Amino acid sequence: MGIVKTKDLTYEYVRRDEEGNVEGFTTAVDQVSLDIRKGEFVAILGHNGSGKSTLAKHFNVILNPTEGTVWVDGMNTSEQERVWDIRQRAGMVFQNPDNQIIGQVVEEDVGFGPENMGIPTKEIWERVEESLKAVGMYEYRKHSPNKLSGGQKQRVSIAGVLAMHPKCIVLDEPTAMLDPSGRREVIRAVRGLNDVEGITVILITHYMEEIIHADRVFVMDSGKIAMEGTPREIFSQVERLKELRLDVPQVTLLAYELQKKGVRLPDGILTARELADALAEMR
Ligand code: ADP
Ligand code: MG
Repeated sequence: MGIVKTKDLTYEYVRRDEEGNVEGFTTAVDQVSLDIRKGEFVAILGHNGSGKSTLAKHFNVILNPTEGTVWVDGMNTSEQERVWDIRQRAGMVFQNPDNQIIGQVVEEDVGFGPENMGIPTKEIWERVEESLKAVGMYEYRKHSPNKLSGGQKQRVSIAGVLAMHPKCIVLDEPTAMLDPSGRREVIRAVRGLNDVEGITVILITHYMEEIIHADRVFVMDSGKIAMEGTPREIFSQVERLKELRLDVPQVTLLAYELQKKGVRLPDGILTARELADALAEMR
């Protein structure tokens, strides 16, 4: 069994009118079964409302299944007494960095998680140092989080999760509120966690270019897994991605249009470099 596994997971939100009477149900996650291996970098894509956040909230026991089962590191998330254990194994980073930082000083903020876990003080400081180094924020350890850029704040949030020594980190659109340079910083830090620290990464995004480095991609639509594959397999299905209302990267579209005109390029071109190399080879 992988680090995160779901079997026939379904989640329904209850819709109520102003008086609180039940109006109906929204099935946000619909019979999802997936198995994520330890050390894997998984990306979850999908347009707004496709069920990505609802799915992710099950990995951190913010939500419990309406039907089906979720296991994190082998633990069934429905077992109440395991909740803290599970949250420590699968840390979560959200969209808005301002809602996640509570400390007055960066290093203090990063230390909150391990402190709440009852880790001895000396070890807390070791963890704070290594976590801040891992996301490239160590030199800011004495700064006030308020003065940091969005990308820096988000990296501090990631360090806060890292300090709890999770096996898995789930990031729900961590770059949605950032400018392009902030987005790059965060994605670079996330890749480092996976490559260097071997932490399982589950990255939710609607930016296609952020999934290039994933081992595996799931595309969600109407609460279901609509596509699954490597980034190249996913990117080679341009028409399908358009149907699922996703923006295909410019370079992938260009390669696809060239292919349609008879230029013999490989499927699923992901970067400008790949396109340039493929074109140069044809000369
Ligand atoms: P995504 O993260 O892909 O944008 P969500 O998981 O947030 O998707 O939402 C999936 C579906 O569930 C949508 O139809 C959304 O309107 C509905 N939904 C999300 N949160 C709630 C909520 N708290 N109450 C009722 N419906 C919700
Ligand atoms: Mg969401």
